[in-house]
Amino acid sequence: MHPHPSGASVTARPRFATRAARAAAAPRSASSPLVPAIHLANVYVFGDLGQVDAVWEGRETGYVYGRFGTPNHTMLEETLAALEGGENALVTASGMGALTAFLLGGLQPGEHLVAGQDLYGATTGLLREQAGRWGIRVTFADPTEAAAVEAAITDTTRAIFVEAVSNPLLRLADLPGLAAVARRRGLTLLVDSTFASPALLRPLEHGATAVHHSATKYLSGHGDVTAGILVGPRPLVNSARTQAVQVGLNLGPFDAWLALRGVRTLALRMERHSANALELAWFLAGRPEIARVHYPGLPEHPQHALAQALLPNGFGGMLSFELAGGARAVHRLFGALAGGAGLPGHEALIPFAPSFGDVTTTWSYPARTSHRPLSDEERAKLGIGPGLVRLSVGIEDVEDLKESLDLALRAAGV
Ligand code: PLP
Repeated sequence: MHPHPSGASVTARPRFATRAARAAAAPRSASSPLVPAIHLANVYVFGDLGQVDAVWEGRETGYVYGRFGTPNHTMLEETLAALEGGENALVTASGMGALTAFLLGGLQPGEHLVAGQDLYGATTGLLREQAGRWGIRVTFADPTEAAAVEAAITDTTRAIFVEAVSNPLLRLADLPGLAAVARRRGLTLLVDSTFASPALLRPLEHGATAVHHSATKYLSGHGDVTAGILVGPRPLVNSARTQAVQVGLNLGPFDAWLALRGVRTLALRMERHSANALELAWFLAGRPEIARVHYPGLPEHPQHALAQALLPNGFGGMLSFELAGGARAVHRLFGALAGGAGLPGHEALIPFAPSFGDVTTTWSYPARTSHRPLSDEERAKLGIGPGLVRLSVGIEDVEDLKESLDLALRAAGV
């Protein structure tokens, strides 16, 4: 027994159940680990109430509770803020979560957003179905024309939101033009840069206010994390963070750790993704089964000059192409790539997987996956036809990819 300040006595050696429940001593080490630890603790212990107030109010650095953030979140946020060249960052449980945090934190009911018309289908869905319920009005405009976006601005517009390189048609938003409009009109320009990643494009360097990513894709890169990120000025990110904490958009610490692990190889992966995609784009452009290839690295891309200016280190790993034989050819392509159609082996030559940005090459069919929330007419208006196939080019040996596509395209026919 030893005395307690209150005068009562406390047992020196706690009993078995107490020792078991509190078994948590961290080992001492003079050296430190090379890679970050995973901090799974979802609550932190305080020394006194002064410290509680200081940490809660941000006067002292510290952690409180899992939903507010952990050291793994901070490591990922600081890394991505630095890579994008932004002041601060917020990581969330998904790309949609990051966009939601931005909308809730950055726009008040009654305010207006101009969004690019070329967006991931679920983003269009969120802006059409949820934003209105939060009192935010949205107008869609052509992001390749700064004048079209400017024409949609009203007295209540607070922000412009575009995809830098659009999903799935690889159209480029006119970032320099949009940044000039945003600056002149005093608006926030938020750019979804998921297709490019900061290894290839840093929108803040082109005048954007903030950047948003589905970190599920290239940033993590291995098909095993769902996460989102928002990078921008401190007040903007802080408002989004308040919303994310209150609504509960937090990422798990293990996912934050995995995403950071992915980021470590981002530069190398993007180099290889880009080189492989450029070679495949040329290869596909020469095939009779294909009516058109969408890739900003090809000279026939209508915005090739802008692509060269914005993406000097590579045009990325995403491309899409239109099968001349339309939807029927897509079905035949599916059979061939899945390993059917008389092809040897049972493994998919190139798996059909409705995501992208992984080290493995995958393909998808936007009309039935990413752009499913849109009607046939809306897809047709954007140029997403029944023969459009999206390819996420991985880091494999490109000759194997050519061989697989050659076999599959022969089966798809013209
Ligand atoms: N932005 C783009 C361009 C996407 O393609 C996606 C998802 O595919 C998202 C945002 C949404 O990200 P998440 O699926 O991580 O919520």
